[in-house]
Amino acid sequence: MTETRLREQICAMAKSIFDRGLTGGASGNISVRTGDGGLLVTPTGSSFGALDPARLSRFDAAGRLVSGDQPTKEMPLHSAFYETRSVTGAVVHLHSCHSVALSMLPETDPDNMLPPLTPYSVMRLGKVLLLPYFRPGDPAMGDAVRGLAGKRSAVVLANHGPVVAGKDLEAAVYAMEELEETAKLAMLLRGANPRMLDAAQVQDLVRTFDIEWDD
Ligand code: ZN
Repeated sequence: MTETRLREQICAMAKSIFDRGLTGGASGNISVRTGDGGLLVTPTGSSFGALDPARLSRFDAAGRLVSGDQPTKEMPLHSAFYETRSVTGAVVHLHSCHSVALSMLPETDPDNMLPPLTPYSVMRLGKVLLLPYFRPGDPAMGDAVRGLAGKRSAVVLANHGPVVAGKDLEAAVYAMEELEETAKLAMLLRGANPRMLDAAQVQDLVRTFDIEWDD
């Protein structure tokens, strides 16, 4: 994909995310690997509803900002995924309502945050890890992701929002949508004792689709 097309894709997908209310105001950020080993990143203070392809922060392969506006302050979250998961081609971070709600409930399992409600969250996300709360801008956020040594593609920062890495932007966005939809189901079904996938059904998915599922 040409860089022009990639810039347009970032802005179009961000607009779609914004229009569906999955992140509001100037929250949320996206980064994508470029063909030359650099990165395109959404700028600090920018809204997903009105991104300008020409003003995306452009980094070269050595990590220097070479053009565009200043990048998101949450850049350390993104860098940590690229550093520890070589398959990463894009990272998406949102402040999405249901994922944040689920992050605050006492019954949420920090090691495997999403209950096994549908096969798709298992297939697209593996186990989603709940990380603790960090003050916005705290570099310890990036350190927490780095500490996972690339074992997870999706985490949720407690009281803040999810971060998902994918092989490309489309994969990362689709996985993020699955995370938020599953969190929404979990909130809708809270206390209703829903039928979930059992352990054998989850293991069948993990084996059949070769899912990362560390025990
Ligand atoms: Zn954030």
